[in-house]
Amino acid sequence: MTRAPSPALLDRLARLLGPKGFERDPDALSPWLTDWRGKYHGRTAAMLSPATADEVAEVVRLCADERVAIVPQGGNSGMVGGATPDASGDQLLLSTRRMNRIRAIDADARMAVVEAGVILENFHHAALAEGLRFPLTLGGKGSATIGGLVSTNAGGTQVLRHGTMRALVAGIEAVLPDGSLFDGLAPLKKDNRGYDLRQLLCGAEGTLGIVTAACLRLVPAAEARCTAWVGLESPERARLLLHRLDMAIGAPLEGFEIVPHGCLDAVLRHIPQTRAPLAASHPWYALIELTGTVADDLPARIEGELAAALESGLIDDVAIAQSDRESEDFWRLRDSISEAERAEGPAIQHDVSVPVDLMPRFIADNPHRLAAAFPGARALSFGHLGDGNVHHHVQPPAGSDGSAWLAAHGEAASRLVYTHVLELGGSISAEHGIGQMKRDIFAELDSPARLGALRAIKAGLDPAGLFNPAKLIG
Ligand code: FAD
Repeated sequence: MTRAPSPALLDRLARLLGPKGFERDPDALSPWLTDWRGKYHGRTAAMLSPATADEVAEVVRLCADERVAIVPQGGNSGMVGGATPDASGDQLLLSTRRMNRIRAIDADARMAVVEAGVILENFHHAALAEGLRFPLTLGGKGSATIGGLVSTNAGGTQVLRHGTMRALVAGIEAVLPDGSLFDGLAPLKKDNRGYDLRQLLCGAEGTLGIVTAACLRLVPAAEARCTAWVGLESPERARLLLHRLDMAIGAPLEGFEIVPHGCLDAVLRHIPQTRAPLAASHPWYALIELTGTVADDLPARIEGELAAALESGLIDDVAIAQSDRESEDFWRLRDSISEAERAEGPAIQHDVSVPVDLMPRFIADNPHRLAAAFPGARALSFGHLGDGNVHHHVQPPAGSDGSAWLAAHGEAASRLVYTHVLELGGSISAEHGIGQMKRDIFAELDSPARLGALRAIKAGLDPAGLFNPAKLIG
């Protein structure tokens, strides 16, 4: 059992971290005690912001001595309430915001050592200044931190070519629940010393270690980029287009996202300075991005492929960005969907994956299953079709009291969605993690073998349950 921090412990932590690293003022704490979606509200006796890995280790040792729980937090942009402490006020919030140095960028090796609190967008800029690129991006890039991205094994819009965070992590430095510092930063291509601790910490959601830095792989900055916005009839047609482009163009194909008209419409209504790329409306859109060298001649290749797709009736219209600015405008439409959906009102969000080929079937069938069980309920799917991953939002019937409807039916509607996903061999969490939002349904629906193994790993590394209790499997 964990305990509340004693006044003596709080005093020692305040002395260790100094005024910049120790915060108790309720106004200053308040933004960090509610998650990005505004669903979870927590309390804490103090927010600790150590500036170095050694300070993190000392904080953990002091807390472990008194059995006080710690909730790690990066940019607080997570979608499953993973960085929000519980309502007891007994858990201490550990923010990585002051560990914000890029320790090194090695342009020859194409590696960077980056502290946990560095914001993704800042890292993008730093890599670009060296002629390099960190090929992972997502809508929350202005807040999400390297430590949070590692700990959620974040995905985003370039997974098709470069993989999730896991594939980009070459090394990790982290403090373990006993206060020891695990230095696994060396980017070893081969290392067979048993279980891979670095990979275990990716996606662990702060339950096994506090990541203090990561060694990350970089790729050359893109010389050329080509972005297209396509209007089409259905996700199945989008899947066929994806397959066609994959066969014809291969590696330069970096992103393939789908957006239903309802989502575009919400973005245009709620997000200032956005405009539709095509003159007419279409039921669905695909956002496609290619990157490569000038010699790859990307504009000619994509234009040729899309012209053939238009000719054959696979797609209905297309706009190709004529400048970087226009590419950014297309991406802004996609990246603003979460924000626009939030402004639309209450909904239940599901971040699910199934094998890529089955995704169109899931997108087509699930709204019917929902409407049969919950008359009037609406569902929309958008996102990473190329990865077999969509964000599937269920909205209350039009004109109903949304919050009351969700309170009465939300859990059962989610169970229906997840049961369908599991029937198709999929995952109830493609990229956002389990956190506190999906913890119970994960425990209810997933296989005893997976849950048993995860619990054994947690019990082995954190027997007192000090790191991020009641999240993931806690
Ligand atoms: P937080 O929200 O602070 O924490 C997330 C989890 O990681 C928590 O469990 C926390 O305890 C743990 N944690 C944080 N830092 C550490 C650390 N140093 N050590 C150990 N544990 C830690 N995610 C995607 O994967 N793909 C997307 O396309 C995507 N799009 C998004 C779009 C928008 C508009 C927003 C707001 C978010 C989006 N996200 C997406 C979700 C979010 O950005 C990611 O989950 C991100 O990885 C969270 O990073 P963070 O620093 O904000 O972490």
